[in-house]
Amino acid sequence: MAVSFDLTGKTAIVTGANTGLGQAIAVALAGAGADVALVGRSSMAGTEAAVAKAGGGRSLSIQADLSTLEPVERVISETVAWTGRADILVNNAGIIRRADAIDFTEADWDAVMDVNLKTVFFLSQAFARHLIGKGERGKIINIASLLSFQGGIRIPSYTASKSGLAGLTRLLACEWAGKGINVNAIAPGYFSTNNTEALRNDPDRNAAILGRIPAGHWGEPEELGGAAVFLAAPASDYVHGIVLPVDGGWLAR
Ligand code: NAD
Repeated sequence: MAVSFDLTGKTAIVTGANTGLGQAIAVALAGAGADVALVGRSSMAGTEAAVAKAGGGRSLSIQADLSTLEPVERVISETVAWTGRADILVNNAGIIRRADAIDFTEADWDAVMDVNLKTVFFLSQAFARHLIGKGERGKIINIASLLSFQGGIRIPSYTASKSGLAGLTRLLACEWAGKGINVNAIAPGYFSTNNTEALRNDPDRNAAILGRIPAGHWGEPEELGGAAVFLAAPASDYVHGIVLPVDGGWLAR
């Protein structure tokens, strides 16, 4: 059997697809042939144009504020209304709040946990219910972090959410592997996006981070696409419950 990275005829849902890693993942999946539902609270115009330019699958924008559970069912139903299917879910939307743990507020705790963990779980549940109800296979890809493995500093709710997401990835893999749903995660290293702007603008932190990355540069969002296509494609059908670092070698140090 030939190894397949082809996503033609598949429909993917990518949350937080308007910018950064979500945009790059959407473009990569579309490039591999998938139709991609772009989910988020901002305009998806840039990603729609990038998908069209890349060729391959089509895109549809779905407006959704993922800080609440309101859009959870709607994201699945609007996607299925578009192409008749939902095969791949990429839980990419995420936020970060920075403050010393000693001063950290309940608002900054709840905001991060709601988007990065609570909505991820319930959207995954709605997606899995859809697949199991139809007796179809599917793929869930959670965007974790190096903070799924390490502690970090000044980001307590982010570290808790991403460490929790690694555990949730393993639990869902255990429950759903036998039902034909692969649940895996990607742990991006340090990538040039809005999420890391504060770090890159701090000369000391920027130099310290760069000095520790064996590859010697911040990741470019496009450098995440291959891992996403692999975990979405038939090539990874026997891969369950992993957290795959794409980090320029950071964790190898
Ligand atoms: P980003 O800030 O550019 O993108 C975050 C995305 O999430 C945006 O599309 C944003 O609109 C969306 N989002 C946030 N809150 C939302 C809400 N309430 N409703 C709908 N959408 C919402 O950052 P990014 O770096 O592209 O981050 C993408 C993912 O990758 C996040 O989960 C982040 O934690 C993770 N990550 C990023 C890095 C990095 O170095 N950039 C490293 C590790 C993990």
